[in-house]
Amino acid sequence: MAKVAVIGGGFVGLSSAYWLLRDGHQVTLFDAAGVGHRSGGASFGNAGTFATYACIPVNNPSVFRDLPRYLLAADSPFRVRWRHLPELTPWLLRFLLHSTQQRSTATATALSHLLGRAYSGYADLITQAGLEPLVQRQACLYLYSGDAAFQASQATLALRQQLGVQTQVLSAGEVAALEPGLAPLFARGVLFPDSWFLSDPGAFVTQLAQWLVGRGMALHTEAVTRISPLPEGVVLEAQRQTAAFDHVVLAAGAHARQLAAQCGDAVPLGAERGYHLLFEGSRALISRPVGWAERGFYMTPMARGVRVAGTVELAGLGREQHPGLLDLLRYASKRALPGLGEPSEPWLGFRPTLPDGLPVLGQASGSRRVVYAFGHQHIGLTLGGVSGAIVADLVAGRSPALDLSPYSPRRF
Ligand SMILES: Cc1cc2nc3c(=O)[nH]c(=O)nc-3n(C[C@H](O)[C@H](O)[C@H](O)COP(=O)(O)OP(=O)(O)OC[C@H]3O[C@@H](n4cnc5c(N)ncnc54)[C@H](O)[C@@H]3O)c2cc1C
Repeated sequence: MAKVAVIGGGFVGLSSAYWLLRDGHQVTLFDAAGVGHRSGGASFGNAGTFATYACIPVNNPSVFRDLPRYLLAADSPFRVRWRHLPELTPWLLRFLLHSTQQRSTATATALSHLLGRAYSGYADLITQAGLEPLVQRQACLYLYSGDAAFQASQATLALRQQLGVQTQVLSAGEVAALEPGLAPLFARGVLFPDSWFLSDPGAFVTQLAQWLVGRGMALHTEAVTRISPLPEGVVLEAQRQTAAFDHVVLAAGAHARQLAAQCGDAVPLGAERGYHLLFEGSRALISRPVGWAERGFYMTPMARGVRVAGTVELAGLGREQHPGLLDLLRYASKRALPGLGEPSEPWLGFRPTLPDGLPVLGQASGSRRVVYAFGHQHIGLTLGGVSGAIVADLVAGRSPALDLSPYSPRRF
């Protein structure tokens, strides 16, 4: 049994804690904001989809076609805050380099290897921690308001199918029959039968943390400020304590970059900022997560109402919200679902994204005792469980069931 510290209490850190406890380790988890707090990680406010179909990275060849329009259009769901351009440029250039057909297919293939194991990463955790009531077994629906956008998506649809994703293409009439609350705007839809969603992602991580504490995990609400790998262990400095561990797992989402640098890896981790709004009391309007492809957001019927979540903003890790993107979410979601009232509780979160769209899963260059698990971009809820299983393998010295070289911290 080893003493293991986990930094970060989102889907990835908590799943790591679960798998580590299962191996009999003594686990201590640090979270800067408090697990499940709305000002903490992306795990609180995401769209809630268990999206095993989401193997197509944002950086795919369509970026070259769509980027000029995205950057210029007033109703674009993708924004760059120009004053941040100098600090964003290196990341953006690498992101574009990874948008070629060849590289994007390699990313999709590597993501599909993780996504194919996503469910087994969570199945026991959900049952044992009693989280099944938060799991809604309804397939996600992706919609296209224009036929041109649907036609343009055919190459990525074919790639998904080739990589084993189950899909069902729907006509406008079939979309309306499935979700009668939607306005008659949608020309085509794609249903992903193997997907499902969470009715409250924040409650999922909060309840999981409580259950893990009941099983012996120590939980500290404080930020880790320094990781010092030593030959015989790893010393962590946190806000209120300094402590030594046999292993450390870095699962701090979009905030992992500086801590990874202390362990010998200059990882080009960026943040894709995303927003959500809550339309309280309106959950009966739809029965499943509904994504609007051209507008870049999902509407998910959660416990307290429809959560509208999405958009991508590149502007670093500041907490200032962009009213234009929130207006866009409000306007577009009300067009799609005319029964929605007025939204509340605007939320901003940071998707942790590497320029090639793949997470970092592996041991630090400065010490095999430090294991990285961050950079899960738009699908960290989905990939939390499998990432945790991989973390536990690395800590135990077992060979993971898949080749980890695509996710290496040294790939850049
Ligand atoms: C709008 C939006 C919609 C999304 N929709 C989906 C979806 O439908 N499906 C899906 O699979 N994914 C979705 N995602 C992505 C998903 O939410 C993230 O990929 C995922 O939450 C990342 O999990 P994580 O555990 O790596 O990081 P986080 O959830 O960000 O957690 C990191 C934790 O680390 C803590 N931390 C940071 N620094 C420190 C430190 N120094 N010391 C201690 N603790 C620290 C933070 O407090 C935080 O709690 C969405 C994201 C956004 C923004």
